Amino acid sequence: MEKVLEISNLSKSYGLITAVNNLSLEVATGDVFGILGPNGSGKTTTLSVISGIIAADTGSYKWFGSEPNASLRKNIGSLIEVPNFYPYLSLYKNLVIAARIKDKPLGDIERVLKLVNLWERKASRFDTLSLGMKQRLALGNVLLGDPSILVLDEPANGLDPEGIAEVREIILRERENKKTIIMASHILDEVEKVCSHVVILKNGQSLAMGRVHELLSADDPVIVSCREAEKLKEEIVRSGLSESVEKDGDELVIVLKKGKGARDINEFAFSKGIVLVHLETRKQSLESQFLELVK
Ligand code: ATP
Repeated sequence: MEKVLEISNLSKSYGLITAVNNLSLEVATGDVFGILGPNGSGKTTTLSVISGIIAADTGSYKWFGSEPNASLRKNIGSLIEVPNFYPYLSLYKNLVIAARIKDKPLGDIERVLKLVNLWERKASRFDTLSLGMKQRLALGNVLLGDPSILVLDEPANGLDPEGIAEVREIILRERENKKTIIMASHILDEVEKVCSHVVILKNGQSLAMGRVHELLSADDPVIVSCREAEKLKEEIVRSGLSESVEKDGDELVIVLKKGKGARDINEFAFSKGIVLVHLETRKQSLESQFLELVK
């Protein structure tokens, strides 16, 4: 996979506040990379630096292995702050102005208005739009000229559940179109549903980073119940299959060694002549891990 973005030891302070603290990460083509963290954890600052809006104090970043330059940036659509659309102009005219400023083809406006589901409203004045529609127009603006990279700061912030779902759908469609997306969010659910990779920030520092599904399944316990729970527990401990086994009545909560799964436990119990009444893998949500990490 081609490296799209490489951030190395990036730091940025505002006076005494360290907004980003020695952050390093890599994003490859086609990744949907989530930057997840509570308010004030440095997400906007990070995205502002890589979008060329502010300068870092120390550290560096490269797009496609190069120092950032204007022609590279043309291929990056950034939504860091909601753009200042003209309230009294139509959606269409607003995008004409935006396209002219960004030197994008006017012929692309119809495509993006359809993508963000606002084509029917193209003649409406901007100030008659709902918040969700305004946010979708802002996304449409970013998609003008079909950039291959999207940098989005909390794209669903402040929206109701329907608005969040609409924005998510647009992002997922761009993901299907093989766009590389770097997206800040403080909503775990959003990251779980949209992102392939995630870094969790706290006070500008990376607490954890990796593929979302790997972080999700890091220590998923397997729960089994059987009549001979005590015997099975002893056998499992002896077998070395597990990191830990807790007994709770007829139930065992087993954290398996890496690479082992529920199937291994089932086969193991069978080989010892123990019949399982129940077997499930309990997904530890990223949420509980996230809350644990940022505590
Ligand atoms: P939020 O989710 O609230 O937008 P964030 O994770 O995007 O938060 P940042 O906006 O990057 O976090 O802010 C990181 C820290 O830097 C915060 O403590 C914030 O108060 C501080 N900060 C950000 N911008 C400035 C600024 N222009 N001047 C002073 N401090 C700032």
